[in-house]
Amino acid sequence: MTATIIDGKAFAATIREKVAGHVARLKSEADLTPGLAVVLVGEDPASQVYVRSKGRLTGEAGMKSFQHSLPADTPQADLVDLVDRLNRDPQVHGILVQLPLPAYMDSEAVINAIAPEKDVDGFHISNVGLLGTGQSAMVPCTPLGCLMMLRAHHGSLSGMNAVVVGRSNIVGKPMAQLLLGESCTVTIAHSRTRDLPAVVRQADIVVAAVGQPKMVQGDWIKPGATVIDVGINRVPNGEKTRLVGDVDFDAAVQVAGAITPVPGGVGPMTIACLLANTVTACCKMNGIDPPE
Ligand code: NDP
Repeated sequence: MTATIIDGKAFAATIREKVAGHVARLKSEADLTPGLAVVLVGEDPASQVYVRSKGRLTGEAGMKSFQHSLPADTPQADLVDLVDRLNRDPQVHGILVQLPLPAYMDSEAVINAIAPEKDVDGFHISNVGLLGTGQSAMVPCTPLGCLMMLRAHHGSLSGMNAVVVGRSNIVGKPMAQLLLGESCTVTIAHSRTRDLPAVVRQADIVVAAVGQPKMVQGDWIKPGATVIDVGINRVPNGEKTRLVGDVDFDAAVQVAGAITPVPGGVGPMTIACLLANTVTACCKMNGIDPPE
């Protein structure tokens, strides 16, 4: 039997529809239009694609989209000035600075310049601390999207063994915090983990966020486990390229109970959660209870 394919694309579409409904209600009942500002520095082609699709989907949800593209040699002080203006702009409820920033910039300093209540990426140190201590926080979009798919598939995750492969601040660590919050027994694996296949074989839930194409093999997966593949890797495909995840999908789908595809799994959920976080930020800033 092959695994159930968790259709992130369809799930994300339902979330965006709900977001559009909330936006329409905020407009009609509170005369508020949530606004998301996305800041891109430089011309990284992948980042340009992400920023464009974020802008398009923000508009489609009925929200205001503000896009700021700065040249690759922008001084950090100018970027921080822009962030500061966006912090003070009442039309802007969410601010996202597209990562990675050019190497000469101090990304942490830039992210921490965002007002925490507008930090819809959830990377500001205040939100990281709130999440880490189990308090209400702006939660990073990619792990939030993964969690929503897991909850929708399993209901309760309590007591399950979860292995998160990857310990980055933007995916691995917040993912582990969220799973801990769901009362999973959580292992965080990384490049120094000994016998990674054996560690992954313990998992009822595997979240792969390593950035290595097809690294997680089919025979690492415990039969029936749920596999969430965060990886987005562009690999050669004849004359062209194609996207693959961090999991060897064709092998893992034979063993897992459920699995997310790449593309069409985690990626679309990330943007849907960004829109949902912006609505939440807008509600909180205006003393309105945010939607569930
Ligand atoms: P990082 O490069 O920041 O982190 C990768 C992590 O994987 C590190 O903790 C690293 O360990 C670990 N790792 C790397 N190689 C191995 C290995 N051979 N064995 C075990 N662990 C390893 O990546 P990100 O967390 O930013 O992203 C991970 C993947 O997710 C990428 O493919 C990225 O494109 C994708 N991504 C997808 C998103 C989406 O919307 N779907 C959003 C964000 C990211 P160590 O710390 O020891 O170096």
